[in-house]
Amino acid sequence: IEAMNAGALDYLVKGEISPQMLERSMRYALKLGDTLEALRRLATRDQLTGLLNRRVFDEILEEEIDRSQRFDRPFSLILIDIDHFKNVNDTHGHLAGDAVLREVARRIEKKARSVDRVMRYGGEEFAILMLEGDSEVARRLADGVRVAIETDAVSAGGDLVLPLTISAGVADFPRDANSADELIAAADKGLYAAKEGGRNRVVTCRDIPA
Ligand code: GH3
Ligand code: MG
Ligand code: MG
Repeated sequence: IEAMNAGALDYLVKGEISPQMLERSMRYALKLGDTLEALRRLATRDQLTGLLNRRVFDEILEEEIDRSQRFDRPFSLILIDIDHFKNVNDTHGHLAGDAVLREVARRIEKKARSVDRVMRYGGEEFAILMLEGDSEVARRLADGVRVAIETDAVSAGGDLVLPLTISAGVADFPRDANSADELIAAADKGLYAAKEGGRNRVVTCRDIPA
């Protein structure tokens, strides 16, 4: 009973174990393990890009805010939005758009460090939670992503490659915000300013003139 309470999924009675029972039990455990892994992936990952999904993003953001407050460790949020992405869908179709989203996700992941958390935040929007780095490092990372997209045309499936750019907004906790909502709003403000300023640029929310 103790073992089951602690999370054991099956048990065999000592003295009554036959090779058949043991084999069945092991098969069951392996199958269940695979199923749980698949469920975990479905619950935490975006289906199209394989990045962490919005639900996990919200959870991680709350956790990081707690951690940041408790240990006095600042962190940064980068919001990335593909410029004129609607044109890709309108001109080349939804499947080409999907391929672009996957490729952009890969390039963002490649630029991010292993401690950063990369997420699909919405349709053609991505977020990076940048831990253990100051805001200048975050701005440089965002600009690295921007350059990585601008420099090489993005594959849209088959032979089709498209020149693309992204815009990004950066905000720091706790300097620019006191809560998750405020941090997202601050990064979004930077992103909006980047779009207004002509796209293909990174704006830190603090740099916006009041
Ligand atoms: P801006 O430079 O201002 O960001 O312009 P935009 O065209 O990128 O912005 P807008 O928000 O108008 O367009 C976003 C488009 O993203 C609209 C929507 O159809 C498309 N989209 C959202 N999710 C997906 C998806 O999963 N697959 C595809 N193919 N398109 C998607
Ligand atoms: Mg958008
Ligand atoms: Mg866009």
